[in-house]
Amino acid sequence: MKKIITIAIDGFSSTGKSTVAKRLAKALGYVYVDTGAMYRAVTFYAMQNDLISDDAFDKEGLIAHLDKVKVNFKFNENLGFAEVYLNGTNVEQEVRNMEVSQFVSQVATVSEVRQRLVKQQQAFGKDKGVVMDGRDIGTVVFPDAELKLFMTASAEKRAQRRYDELLERGDKVSYEAVLENVQSRDLVDSTRKDSPLVKAEDAIRVDNSNMTLDEQFEFILKLSEE
Ligand code: C5P
Repeated sequence: MKKIITIAIDGFSSTGKSTVAKRLAKALGYVYVDTGAMYRAVTFYAMQNDLISDDAFDKEGLIAHLDKVKVNFKFNENLGFAEVYLNGTNVEQEVRNMEVSQFVSQVATVSEVRQRLVKQQQAFGKDKGVVMDGRDIGTVVFPDAELKLFMTASAEKRAQRRYDELLERGDKVSYEAVLENVQSRDLVDSTRKDSPLVKAEDAIRVDNSNMTLDEQFEFILKLSEE
């Protein structure tokens, strides 16, 4: 029988982690968990409750609210992946907008938020095959994961991919704004005190600037079978 393993995929913003992770989970019959969606859902909650805006971030206020913030996933048969829910409401679309993207890295610096989400993520991967993508999966959530990938690509390539995605959804944004957001999130993510984005020592670096999705998929699938 094939061994069940944990696959941790970390890397910078918009490196296409989730696209390849979803496909991999499907092929292997594993659960896919998009941890970025969880930080995004908490951020969306903070926005809805006036705890974060362009002018201020009420960190203590958010911490006080955390018991009331329930983030979960429900599998959507039609889409073939699990969508993110905030307190029982599907927020899969809402959490992907630019406003959430602007605030999410700030929310992700809060240790209390991280502790809760990490605990939940570890529970998702208990006793079953899981492909999880994020920033700290190979370093904090599953330091013992059997396979760890660290995805990179140039900031321009990543911004272009994200921009194309947003356009497809009908969002009105400029490429420059997306590039700015990608770069500023990278900076906050890799310099924060708690669980900064770093490559786990035993992670395999994959620069996918010039790789197609098929190539990335085949490459990682092969590694998972070794
Ligand atoms: O993966 P995605 O770009 O949707 O993640 C949104 C943000 O959530 C990241 O820029 C980062 O600030 C935060 N994040 C994190 N740790 C994770 C996943 C995401 O800090 N494991």
